[in-house]
Amino acid sequence: MAHRVFNFNPGPATLPLSVLQTVQEELLDYRGEGMSIMEMSHRSKTFGALVQEAEERIKRIMGFSDDYQVLFLQGGATAQFAAIPLNLSQDGKTAEYINTGSWAKKAIAEAKKLNKPYRVIASSEDDNFTYIPTDFTIGSDAAYVHITSNNTIFGTQWQEYPDTGDVPLIADMSSDFYCRRFDPNQFALIYAGAQKNAGPSGVTIVIIRKDLLERSPEDIPTILNYRIFAEKNSLYNTPNTFGIYVVNLVMKWIEDQGGIDAIEKVNRQKAQLLYDALDASEFYRPHARKDSRSLMNVTWRLPSEELEKKFVEEAAANDLVGLKGHRSVGGIRASIYNAMPLEGVQRLVEFMKDFEQKNG
Ligand SMILES: *Cc1c(COP(=O)(O)O)cnc(C)c1O
Repeated sequence: MAHRVFNFNPGPATLPLSVLQTVQEELLDYRGEGMSIMEMSHRSKTFGALVQEAEERIKRIMGFSDDYQVLFLQGGATAQFAAIPLNLSQDGKTAEYINTGSWAKKAIAEAKKLNKPYRVIASSEDDNFTYIPTDFTIGSDAAYVHITSNNTIFGTQWQEYPDTGDVPLIADMSSDFYCRRFDPNQFALIYAGAQKNAGPSGVTIVIIRKDLLERSPEDIPTILNYRIFAEKNSLYNTPNTFGIYVVNLVMKWIEDQGGIDAIEKVNRQKAQLLYDALDASEFYRPHARKDSRSLMNVTWRLPSEELEKKFVEEAAANDLVGLKGHRSVGGIRASIYNAMPLEGVQRLVEFMKDFEQKNG
């Protein structure tokens, strides 16, 4: 057996072991085709069926109706930061953004660079993004409202999504895609780079309400045009075939676990265990405000940077890897995505208690 650690990296991140084993089993001969999925034409019947299967699973798991279409795109969530203003801006209207951290800022920067009218209607930058703002109003002239549902770096997450009425709500769900149940009808578009909670890097999942496709102008780059990729079922050009294959396996894994509610239940157990450990200690200081805490990325500080370094090193020696926080928060970040087993968090909490005893 291969030696596997508990991988708390923020992304690319841990994948379910059973998914990796299936990939391994199917690698040389994908279901009797005599070739790997990587070597197969994206125009083949087999691959076409796989794309459709992946799309259907994604819709089925959360209950998206046929008013929505799933796209598999490239360029990461970062490409979507540009695609959204290019496709969805409207004459005489202003795009609205809520700034909850580094990724939100990058999304805003693209709208600005593209010279699209936009405004930031709320921000938590005043407190180094420790919380999700709740006090804002949506303009009657808003083209769309863009939020970042989970702030990977700061460890905050929208607990309840804003009601934007008729204004299309767009969410960057890169780091909390399908970690809990939500009402699909609240959203006009959600997107996620797969490498955090849905698969490998190199494929981005976009779920778009079909009426929005009419907004895409002719004169934008084809590679970023939602309408064209929707018309071609994500196969306008060669997609990340291997990535889509793995995403489909991860979605199947969600269904095999009992679906989204079962996944959410374990995620809540894991997060609770970790936040309880943080709250019970004076030694560890969580970054996110209690009312904004993320189920996926848990961030905290220790009394000194020296101790933080020691914590990360000693944890790694105990097979708990990838715990170093992002430089804009510092300290520790445990990314506990869907594929992180409860046992990984239990082991981390034990390590934390032990470390505090020895160093506190
Ligand atoms: C990681 C991340 C991104 C960037 O994703 P890429 O796929 O690397 O472009 C964007 N938004 C959020 C919330 C992220 O966590």
